[in-house]
Amino acid sequence: MDSRRSGARLFRAATVVAGGVVHRPGWLEVAADGRVSSVGPRPPTGGSACRATVDLRDGTVVPGFVDMHVHGGGGASFDAGSPEQVRTAIATHRAHGTTRMCASLVSAPPELLVRQVRALVPQVESGALAGIHLEGPWLAATRCGAHDPAALRLPKQDEIRRLLDAGAGTIRMVTLAPELPGAPAAIERFRAAGVVVAIGHTEADHRQTRAAIAAGASVATHLFNAMRPIGHREPGPVVALTADPRVTVELIADGVHLDPAMYRWVGGLVGPSRIALITDAMAAAGRPDGEYRLGTRPVTVTGGVARLTGSSTIAGSTATMDRLFRMACGVPDGPDDSRLLAAVLQTSTVPARALGIPVHDLSPGTLADLVVLSPEWEVRQVFSALD
Ligand SMILES: [Zn+2]
Repeated sequence: MDSRRSGARLFRAATVVAGGVVHRPGWLEVAADGRVSSVGPRPPTGGSACRATVDLRDGTVVPGFVDMHVHGGGGASFDAGSPEQVRTAIATHRAHGTTRMCASLVSAPPELLVRQVRALVPQVESGALAGIHLEGPWLAATRCGAHDPAALRLPKQDEIRRLLDAGAGTIRMVTLAPELPGAPAAIERFRAAGVVVAIGHTEADHRQTRAAIAAGASVATHLFNAMRPIGHREPGPVVALTADPRVTVELIADGVHLDPAMYRWVGGLVGPSRIALITDAMAAAGRPDGEYRLGTRPVTVTGGVARLTGSSTIAGSTATMDRLFRMACGVPDGPDDSRLLAAVLQTSTVPARALGIPVHDLSPGTLADLVVLSPEWEVRQVFSALD
């Protein structure tokens, strides 16, 4: 749907969540430029007479989801690099409410990684992707998860320069293990280039993690997963990352990577506005069980759970953002407003803010990226202002 081509529009729905407020009923006016011009519990007075009214009946309108960590979907992977694969992955997640996403690349040999980055640059420049996320290759071998251990290496300034050049401003985030030799200089280099630094796949202790945050790291890559666990004598990265208000924590709240009780526990610890829900989805998202790949590694999906073939190692997820939204809302119990608002923050505003891209919380002036959910909290329709 293209708001610009269709001119000004007025949406009416049973519920509209905008700018941190739940309106029942809700009216949302979108100008011809694709931005929200007014929102509230009543239709706006005056304005354009030629706007079309879209009646979304018993639907709930929430801001389009932002997935800051996703490798693919619909059988396609971002590392395959072909425009067709990228389109398939985007369309698969889009059907589940994601209107902005970062393309995550797993650790790969140097030449291949540069080629993968180059292939994605036009997709970022066109606005189809919000940026590239390099998940590694600067990761701890002992916490590499599904990454190919043979592709891991130390952060060296030469390679960082080559990747930043290849990315031409499209690399939005990197994940690295801050305990590696060269990591402090790498953090400094990435921050100077405006790249968000995330801490993950790490053996770092509490002190090393705090030093990385002080140097500018601002995101925890899938908190708990692939990092040293909490110890009461050595608190490790989890305590340092949750304790610092500058850090946004990613959670793969799909019920596989993380027990829902941990999601609620972290929420109590850091509050609703520092959690970014991510899918970390690989090609099998939106597809049936079967054989897939994550980077160069074969993955078997059984019962919706992706594992490195022949092992118990979890290899990304098959989740989509709508599923994480439902989990955050507490469906099937039905959300109260505070849970609904927290779910909106964590699936849209917080990840956008963490990435440094414009927030579209449907308050006036923001882009009208919106998802219409049914009373059963299933995605019914998706509108994006940038189509
Ligand atoms: Zn990942």
